[in-house]
Amino acid sequence: MQVLFVTSEVAPLIKTGGLADVSAALPTALRDMNIDVRMLLPGYPQVLQALVNLQVAADFPALPGFPPARLLVDVLPNGVPLWVIECPQLYQRGGGAYQDATGIDWPDNAHRFGLLSKIAAILSCAETPLDWKPDVVHCNDWQTGLTPAYLHFVAGAAPCVMTVHNIAFQGIFPSQLTTNMGLPEESFQPDGVEFFGDLSFMKAGLYYADHITTVSPSYAREIQTAELGFGLQGLLVHKRKVLTGILNGIDTKEWDPAADPNLVQPYDIKNLQGKSANKRELQNRMGLHINDKIPLFGLVSRFTRQKGLDLLLEVASQLIALPAQLVLLGSGDKEMERAALELAHQYPGQIAAFAGFDESLAHLIEAGADIFLMPSRFEPCGLNQLYSQRYGTPPIVHATGGLIDTVVDCNAVSLLRGDASGFIFNSMDAPSLLAAARRAVATYDDKKTWRLLQQNCMSKDFSWRQSAAAYHDIYAQLMRP
Ligand code: ADP
Repeated sequence: MQVLFVTSEVAPLIKTGGLADVSAALPTALRDMNIDVRMLLPGYPQVLQALVNLQVAADFPALPGFPPARLLVDVLPNGVPLWVIECPQLYQRGGGAYQDATGIDWPDNAHRFGLLSKIAAILSCAETPLDWKPDVVHCNDWQTGLTPAYLHFVAGAAPCVMTVHNIAFQGIFPSQLTTNMGLPEESFQPDGVEFFGDLSFMKAGLYYADHITTVSPSYAREIQTAELGFGLQGLLVHKRKVLTGILNGIDTKEWDPAADPNLVQPYDIKNLQGKSANKRELQNRMGLHINDKIPLFGLVSRFTRQKGLDLLLEVASQLIALPAQLVLLGSGDKEMERAALELAHQYPGQIAAFAGFDESLAHLIEAGADIFLMPSRFEPCGLNQLYSQRYGTPPIVHATGGLIDTVVDCNAVSLLRGDASGFIFNSMDAPSLLAAARRAVATYDDKKTWRLLQQNCMSKDFSWRQSAAAYHDIYAQLMRP
């Protein structure tokens, strides 16, 4: 079985969020199942610099009017073979994958990701210049959404799986780009790529894909509703028979408290002693009072309303009055970044904040915090609550999407059953979040119960094994004549 995995980010080369982690871990898990997975990625400077053995694989003009592209080939550090699209005019620049350094979307994103989509399509049909052709092409999020649309109009093309990591981001562009991108005019209609008069990359992917997956069973249900479908719920209800929710797994080697180079002391489920050394290190590094008596709340997140940062900032002063400490790491909305830094300034030693992206600090927070915070308004899957459970740091989560699929609320029944693993709050408001935080702190103060809770968290299996098998089954189904 040969699968082309098309993505706009992969850890550790280029990462803005969970998609990069999934793109690193899922193909590896699939290769472990003897599937020949290969990746296609844009040639951002970060990627070209990190890969030192890139060789030219092919040169071809991808789209009329587009700069010609060159395909380079190499192998990722995790052993996954990949092709990188070299097109300096579109990818060779400072800033991030989707935005410039000030957080503004690149004005030519339609072309940047139209090219990615188009090349994926070329590699998945008879036109390919390579001697390897996939049985299935696996697209991820709007950046790859045009691939299924291109392939729909080509005879004998590989079937497509489209995975939705977050339906709030859709890649919407002016209608005239449809033909600029080399799509037939007839595709610009409600039964096609058109979305309220514009071209939607996400809708294109969903409409033309042979199978749609998303990253948790609950989110698969939620995107079929007006509340969380962001306008695409009707199409998703229509395609519900080919829509599957498959939980994301985690890279259990990368995120392992027993062997994490970012920690000052390793620990595991049998011996959690090392966790306190990491708490001290975190307090020390972030300028918090060294205190092992009160719980430390941690958060690692994009700073957006989706992640409930607004709510968290609103209740921060009440959280530390429980009493507790709070450490925040994240970047995104500049106003939220400023408010987080201001809180740290206002409550020195009790609240600490770092505005920016820091992979190593993220690991230390998962390990050094006592309680993890994830008050997302909506959450397709979420990875941080999985990491935090693996690190024995029970999370407080809002009852939404992947969070309810992966966290079991701690109460008398779940404690008795032995699967309690965190604290769930139902209503997206301050009293509800604070009530969960109070429950968490009360449980933390009961050392025996807390230890049980931590052990429940750490014994859960969040590896990719089961989920990779579910993807395998979908590929196999699509390959059946
Ligand atoms: P999303 O993809 O919606 O941002 P996820 O929870 O699925 O959310 O994944 C987020 C990933 O990005 C996690 O690996 C998390 O640790 C990481 N991350 C987010 N913000 C930062 C940051 N400021 N510094 C380091 N890692 C971060």
